[in-house]
Formats: sequence, C-alpha cells, structure tokens
Amino acid sequence: MTDGASLRDWCERAARVLPAAGFGNFDPSVVIARGKGARVWDADGNEYVDYLIGSGPMMLGHGHPEVLQAVQEQVAHGFTFFANNAKGIKLAEEIADAMACAGQVRFVSTGSEADMYAMRLARAHTGREKILKFEGGYHGMSGEALMSLAPTKRVNFPQAVPDSAGIPEAVREAMLIAPFNDPDFVRGLLDEHGDEIAAIIVEPLQRLVPPEPGFLEMLREETLRRGIVLIFDEVVTGFRLAFGGGQEKYGVTPDLCTLGKVIGGGFPLAAIAGREEVMAHFDKAKAGDGFTFQIGTLSGNPVASVAGLKTMEVLKRPGTYDTLRASGRRVMDAITRELGAAGVAHRVVGDPVLFDVVFTDREVRDYRDTADGNAEQAKIFNSVLRAHGILKPDSKFYISLALTDADLAQTEEAIAAAARSLV
Ligand code: PMP
Repeated sequence: MTDGASLRDWCERAARVLPAAGFGNFDPSVVIARGKGARVWDADGNEYVDYLIGSGPMMLGHGHPEVLQAVQEQVAHGFTFFANNAKGIKLAEEIADAMACAGQVRFVSTGSEADMYAMRLARAHTGREKILKFEGGYHGMSGEALMSLAPTKRVNFPQAVPDSAGIPEAVREAMLIAPFNDPDFVRGLLDEHGDEIAAIIVEPLQRLVPPEPGFLEMLREETLRRGIVLIFDEVVTGFRLAFGGGQEKYGVTPDLCTLGKVIGGGFPLAAIAGREEVMAHFDKAKAGDGFTFQIGTLSGNPVASVAGLKTMEVLKRPGTYDTLRASGRRVMDAITRELGAAGVAHRVVGDPVLFDVVFTDREVRDYRDTADGNAEQAKIFNSVLRAHGILKPDSKFYISLALTDADLAQTEEAIAAAARSLV
C-alpha cells in the first residue's frame, strides 16, 4: 500500500512534486496508506479513528463490503463511457426521488462544478447577474464562490472580499454578501437590489451553523416573490442531515440544489438537481438563447454511480440515521462534559451528524462568531486528539455509520485528554 516507504519518505517525496507538499486539502504530514470501516492507517502503520472520512463521502466507512462488491462488478464491465448508461440513469432517478426540489438531474464530477453551473443556470433563467451568498458559505472554488468564503478582513456587508488571487474585479462586483441568520439584513438587501439578483446560494446548515427557525423559510418566500432562484448547496448536507438532505430536515424546498460527496460513494461524482423549468436551460431544444452549455468527460460515470446507488441503498435501511445521530450525540456529549468539567468556555455547534466545538462564550449564529473562536485552543484540542488516534478535519467531526462502540470509547478518552490539556 505504501511501497515499503516510510511516512517521512512520502512527505519528502511529496514536498518535491506537490506545491505546499500536498494536494491542498489537508495537513500534508498525514499520508494515508489504507482505510477500513471507521479506521485509517498512515504510511508508518499508525492507526486512527476517522472523522475526516474523505471530507464527507465515506458515510458508510471505508471499504463497505456491499459498495466494494458493486464497484468490482461494475469495473469488470467498463470504467467510463461518456454516453448515457443505465447506472447513471438509475442514480438520477434515486436523486429525483430523494430530493424534494429535484425534478431533473445533471451530473458533473465535483461539488465545485455543480455550484458553478447552478449559479450560471440561475443567471440564464433570470437574465440577471448578481448572486447573493453568505459570508463563510462554502460553494466550491469558482470565482463567485471564493468571495467571502473565509475572509480575515472584516468589511461592511454586502461588500465581497476575494479569498483568492486571480479573480477578475467584475466577479467581485457581481457578488453581494450577507451575514447568515440575519433576516432583516437580507430583506433590506433584497429591497435595494432584488431585481438585479439571479440567485441566493446558501448551505442550509452553513458549515457548522444551523439555520435559525424561519431563516430558510424567509429566503424561500422572498426569492419566490422576487423571481430569484434559490439554490441550496447540499454537497455536505445531502443524504447526511436526512436522506432528503437539508430540504427534508428543514422543510424548505429550493429551486435548485447541488449534491456531491455521498452521491458518488467516494468516487468523483456530483450533480445539480432542480425544478424542470430551470433545468431546461441545459436542453438546447427547449432553452433557445437561454441554453447553458455543459459537458463533462466523466459525468454520470458508472463506477461512481454504482458506488452512490449502493451507498444510498444502505442509508435507506431502517434505523440508519438514528444510529448516526446516536454516535454523533455521544461525541458531542463527551465534548460538552469534558470541556465543562475543565471549565473551558466553548459551544458545540452543528448537528449530531456533523459538528465541532468552537472555543467561545458567545452564541454561534454566523461566520464571524465561528471565526472569533479561540484558534489556539482549537489547535491544541485537535492535536491532542490526533496524538490519541483521532483524525478529524480542522473544524469538523464527520460521523460515519461504521463507528463502533470501541471507536467511540477511544474518542471519549481522547476528548477527556484534550480537555485536560486546555486547563
Ligand atoms: N459545497 C460545499 C458545501 C462543500 O463543503 C464543498 C466541499 N467541501 C463543495 C461545495 C465543493 O465540493 P468539491 O470539493 O467536490 O468540489
């Protein structure tokens, strides 16, 4: 799995050929050799309970036997065709059944692309250019999405701050930025700019922060009233918050949603799904001048499709989401208990399937509340967890169905140690 080379060897080799010594995603001092169930092993054989799970897709854990079998069967019949194929069509049907907004589905390969096309579709549909996004909202890597994704500079809303070099000023000017969970601000912005806005794009649960009651409903009402396309970015929340995603959990149906991660079962596959009238812009025969050009070599890839289909089949079984929530609840409770006992100010933010601790004594309602958390304490907390065999993203625990009682008990012990280190 690692050609016999050590972790150190791999890090040195990575530093020569990869900018910043890595793929750009995660701490490059971690080089994973293999994963099984809820555990991964690095190139030196160190073992971790995995709360990174591929940044979300591996919701059933690594190497789930049924997914593995489905993938192996498909691989024997071909890897990719470009043309329509039965597996991709079945996956589109499953998505259309699961997601309330999904009349039709268009496949792409990454969540980033899905979000880029969703915003473009909204522009094609409305003939307007501006997009409203929320500060701290993550919608992939397009120029639009990189506006006020993780800004360190605090400017006045609705001004956008680019998080990357290389984006034309015109893109910045096309973006309006609002604070999450602030209905009054959004209404005011819509009163001023409503007729220039093509879309509001929002994660129904933004990173870790749940929507306050009525916030998503307000977005739905205002967008309907003003002919604005409402896009839910469900790349993370789809098939995670509930089988039908945030739209099912919160009971608000957008015009479009974007999906990724879980729907490809760990393979590159993502999708835009939505109302037929908006999706019709992908159909040249129907859309005329409003045609939105979209092609992708790997779109509807059959290997990814069968992995996604099998993952969904398992997720649909009775009790799955209860099990996920119970596991997540156990970790959340351990954090609250141990940090409480240590007297460390904190908030556990999120949903039992996806959450983290923010070291703050104030309520966390938006990006600035999260960003103002004590970063030094978070760093110590995460590094003590790592030393105790817990692998997690910097600001998230992703819960998988593969977590066992032993995995959770180890996590509880690690959390207790991390809390003690903060006293
Ligand atoms: N939207 C959200 C909410 C995400 O969390 C991510 C990825 N973390 C994306 C879009 C982009 O997906 P991808 O990395 O597949 O391009």
